[in-house]
Amino acid sequence: MYLKSIEVHGFKSFANKLKFQFHNGITGIVGPNGSGKSNVGDAVRWVLGEQSVKQLRGSNMQDVIFSGTENRKPLGSAMVSITLDNSDHQLPVDYNEVTVTRRLYRSGESEYLINGTACRLRDVKELFYDTGIGKEGYSIIGQGQIDKILNGKPEERRELFDEAAGIVKFKRRKLSAQKK
Ligand code: ATP
Ligand code: MG
Repeated sequence: MYLKSIEVHGFKSFANKLKFQFHNGITGIVGPNGSGKSNVGDAVRWVLGEQSVKQLRGSNMQDVIFSGTENRKPLGSAMVSITLDNSDHQLPVDYNEVTVTRRLYRSGESEYLINGTACRLRDVKELFYDTGIGKEGYSIIGQGQIDKILNGKPEERRELFDEAAGIVKFKRRKLSAQKK
């Protein structure tokens, strides 16, 4: 499994519809300060279901929508899609390619889609449990996060090992069964 592309439209500084395409290898994103490198990482966090505006470096969720520049009007919505190659079927679905999309309108209305079909945030989360990719995973290591892991509480560190060991989904199911 690998990340094939990230598509953004109206997300943060990306007013135009733009598609970043990747190959199965290492890609570096370089550019001057403020050019939008970190916004690419934010886009991936966001589409995976990030709910924390602080993580997204904003003060409210609508801050992810392109807010306009001197010569360009603000946009009414933000969209991010990521497409993963799933030919090794590491993700528990039949598709060889999986696209996850998140959209947010200024009105606050929002939606998630998996391969074009509307779904719940929960479905997106479940898709990525135990793959290391989810928001709780370790596929995105932000600045300062290594320190947090090293200095973190044992329970927090345990979550990381659970994810790597592939037992998160069972723990979640157990919890929700106990609640019923
Ligand atoms: P550095 O090298 O300093 O880390 P960077 O390339 O990582 O820079 P980012 O932090 O990704 O830069 O991008 C910041 C830019 O994105 C700023 O110019 C900011 O104005 C712009 N930006 C963030 N949110 C929005 C938004 N909602 N609408 C328009 N522009 C935005
Ligand atoms: Mg940056």
